[in-house]
Amino acid sequence: MNSAAVPPALAHDEVVSPVHCRRCGYNLYGLRADGQCPECGLETWESVLHTVDPAASRLPKLRDPARVGSALLSLTVFLLIGAAVLATRPLAGWVEKLDPTGRWALAAHVPAEFTFLAAAAAVGGLWSLRGLDPERGIGEQGAVWRRGIWLLAWVLAVGVVAATVAARLEAVFPLSPAADVLRLSLAVPAVIGLLGLQGILGVIGLRSREYRTARGGRQGITAMVAATMGLAAGGLIRLLGLSQSLGGLATLGAVIGLISTLMLLIGLAYLVVNVWWIRRALHRPPPELSEILGRRA
Ligand SMILES: [Zn+2]
Repeated sequence: MNSAAVPPALAHDEVVSPVHCRRCGYNLYGLRADGQCPECGLETWESVLHTVDPAASRLPKLRDPARVGSALLSLTVFLLIGAAVLATRPLAGWVEKLDPTGRWALAAHVPAEFTFLAAAAAVGGLWSLRGLDPERGIGEQGAVWRRGIWLLAWVLAVGVVAATVAARLEAVFPLSPAADVLRLSLAVPAVIGLLGLQGILGVIGLRSREYRTARGGRQGITAMVAATMGLAAGGLIRLLGLSQSLGGLATLGAVIGLISTLMLLIGLAYLVVNVWWIRRALHRPPPELSEILGRRA
């Protein structure tokens, strides 16, 4: 516990709204900022700091933080849905290959048209971007934010087209690997989109103390980029193995692809949780220090 000292200018202020002691819950209303909790002795200042999140309150104000939080959440949910839909047919196929008895026949249960849902999810993602329009007047952070939005917009537009084409290809040429190749080539825009998302999260995520300070619980974008590249590599190895009739190589590729796909989906699901924290902080921002401390006339 780092017990920061009370800034001298605030030392004689009193707690002017109900702040509860971090340790025992005692209401510190009316006590001095440099005092201690009468119940447990914890510094009042520590409970005040815990209540206000000074780091977030130093950031430039957003015009409509609640809208930004909801848009970010719906964007990541659509990304998760889109990725899960795109992965479903390959996953079913891969799992089927791993089953030597061939009894599961999973792929037969997922029609080619299912992939259209990924295009719909990408449209949903584009729609979510509307609520994320980069704010003016937040300086350099705004530039990072704006770039992230543009990257995501391009990537989602590519996703709409690619998923639609992949669904058609699979329906018309069910045995051709063309749809697989198309899916794999989406790894490139996916990485670009993840990097755009990283920029946006870097700017907006700072406003949530839970996100800012979570170390283990924060989904790293780098890990998801690595999973995307693993997914593409596995898919290429599998296609290579299939084209050269090397069964072992194809299985190796399938296993790498399967593991990477699961890692990516778990990563996206965790990202949704992280964004849920950010949204919560944006919808209910912590009070300003000036609302908590003051001097009574
Ligand atoms: Zn206490």
